[in-house]
Amino acid sequence: MKIICIGRNYADHAKELNSPVPSKPVFFMKPDTALLHPHNPFFIPDFTNDLHYETELVIKISKHGKCIAEKFAHKYYNEITVGIDFTARDLQTECKDKGLPWEIAKSFDQSAPIGTFIPFEPFRGKDILFGLKINGEWRQNGNSKDMLFGFDRIIAYVSQFITLRKGDCIFTGTPVGVGKTMPEDQFEVFIEDQKLLSFKAK
Ligand code: MG
Repeated sequence: MKIICIGRNYADHAKELNSPVPSKPVFFMKPDTALLHPHNPFFIPDFTNDLHYETELVIKISKHGKCIAEKFAHKYYNEITVGIDFTARDLQTECKDKGLPWEIAKSFDQSAPIGTFIPFEPFRGKDILFGLKINGEWRQNGNSKDMLFGFDRIIAYVSQFITLRKGDCIFTGTPVGVGKTMPEDQFEVFIEDQKLLSFKAK
């Protein structure tokens, strides 16, 4: 499986990083080694001094597709959860400044913890509220209605370039409120009142 991540998909988050709001989806990828095994702690890597969490809705591709039309894209996913797009912000800033790719900042081991998937159908056509608590306090809250590019548009866009396969996951961007991860932080990530992901940082 592969992990595709959309960047700058919420205007308020683009603003907090002083990034321009894109006119087309921006995406990058993480390898399957970026997954965090359930029940394992997340280890803050020693190559960064500014590891940020980004809380995101994640959809799972349910069938093979290439050049998918936006009007048919809803047939290509039927599960949703939350994930954390861990980002070494200091390294990413260096990469951006030099015009280099972002992989060292975004695609390292354990950089993509993904929660338990739940059926998408009950959420179809509705606003999806999601959020992150760290050590019991809310740090990020998002609403799918604030996405610049919705799930169907993302699938149509990405599948022009890359074939999507069953089991691939798409991180759909983070809302405002990203911040630094500290050792011993306890992460709890929700869609509405359902806790779908939890782990501890070390
Ligand atoms: Mg992100």
